[in-house]
Amino acid sequence: MTVRVRFAPSPTGMFHVGGARSALQNWIYAKQQGGVFVLRIEDTDAARNKPEWTEGILSALDWIGISRGSYEGPYFQSANAGEHRAAAARLHESGRAYYCDCTREDVQARTGSQYQGYDGYHRDRGLAPGPGHALRFRTPDEGATVVVDLIRGEPTFENKLIEDFVIARGDGSPVFLLANVVDDMTMGITHVIRAEEHLPNTPKQQLLWEALGVKPPIWAHVPVVVNEKRQKLSKRRDKVALEAYRDEGYLAGAMRNYLMLLGWAPSGDREIVPWSVIEDEFRLDEVNLSSAFFDEKKLRAFNGEYIRALPVAEFVDACQPWLTGTGTIAPPPWQPEEFDADAFAAVAPLAQTRIAVLSEIVPNVDFLFLASPLIDEAAWTKTMKDGSAELLDDAVAAFEALDSWDAESLKSTLEAVGAERGLKLGKTQAPVRVAVTGRTVGLPLFESLEVLGRERTLTRMRAARLRLV
Ligand code: GLU
Repeated sequence: MTVRVRFAPSPTGMFHVGGARSALQNWIYAKQQGGVFVLRIEDTDAARNKPEWTEGILSALDWIGISRGSYEGPYFQSANAGEHRAAAARLHESGRAYYCDCTREDVQARTGSQYQGYDGYHRDRGLAPGPGHALRFRTPDEGATVVVDLIRGEPTFENKLIEDFVIARGDGSPVFLLANVVDDMTMGITHVIRAEEHLPNTPKQQLLWEALGVKPPIWAHVPVVVNEKRQKLSKRRDKVALEAYRDEGYLAGAMRNYLMLLGWAPSGDREIVPWSVIEDEFRLDEVNLSSAFFDEKKLRAFNGEYIRALPVAEFVDACQPWLTGTGTIAPPPWQPEEFDADAFAAVAPLAQTRIAVLSEIVPNVDFLFLASPLIDEAAWTKTMKDGSAELLDDAVAAFEALDSWDAESLKSTLEAVGAERGLKLGKTQAPVRVAVTGRTVGLPLFESLEVLGRERTLTRMRAARLRLV
């Protein structure tokens, strides 16, 4: 039997990091089993779906390594609507489902006001189909539904506690629970790997599989991803969109490595491992049962390590979208013609060791390309103290006298200027850095001045000096 798994997102918003994790787990499982990964877009909630969200899912999957053309699909749930209705009709004909026109008030009037479930009133009344008549599944009165779950063992649900749930609404449209089962069935899905939040639906879905005469799949319900307060990651409260991380400059390799560590770890004392190791070693049945903390700080640190591990030329390439402003990434503060690829290449190795996400490249190098630096006023006020004007005067004079404009000479020269005033290099550097780059932190100063060049450096130092009059 060929293993067939599916990833079945609903296109109702930005693509969630938890979804990306489920997709990767399905992807790896299919690969390990020599199986097939199917992508199905569950687009039947017309009020909440938007075509652009579907495009977002496809491009986010592509980014994370599940590339278009390498899986089966995408299929669209809406295209299978005929099958959903046919399944509902079959369940009715076989007596496994019946029509009901009770309102919630009717049920509550019969059973007591607090009762939330359904009392089975129409089970044997033979109500004919008609407008406003919902179709309910007749759940077994006895026995238990045992779900075979690769992560959880065999969660068991007493059938008598499962009410006769609705499978098609009063207007005849099948509900999601049934559509999802029918799609999995028609697509020959053998393993359903999905988030834990779907577990309460699973016994109902398994009963539908059985009633439709098909062997149910094997399930795997993966614990949810939570924030630092142990709350389920929510798009209103937390940064959950994979696209947001991509646009901030997380590397796809770092992201997918990190996502796979949520609730699982490779062998040995390792966290950062090649993708091939994860593909070999990942085991669904080793996934931890407790919810997994999505730690953005840790992800950042991870990403920094991935950035540092890149060959410099690849780092330079990886920075391009932020240097030019491509697609959904905001343009940098300089004009395209101000950008100097050689100057960038000269400082790239210095930046590579300092940034944790690629978007941070921009504030680190903007001083090189802008006609005058973007002065951070708070940094200016904090740094430019009594004596800064004179210090800049002396530094300008000493730099003007330099024969060779290189980092070493610049450093020893400024060191000497400071020493005359009894200042350490750090204190001497600060006003020069703010004058030239506009900021108190950034790339190593003397290498920066070397790349910026004599004229531009001196012009900026003189301009700063004038502001201090
Ligand atoms: N469309 C559902 C969701 O996005 C998936 C349900 C499933 O995986 O069975 O939550």
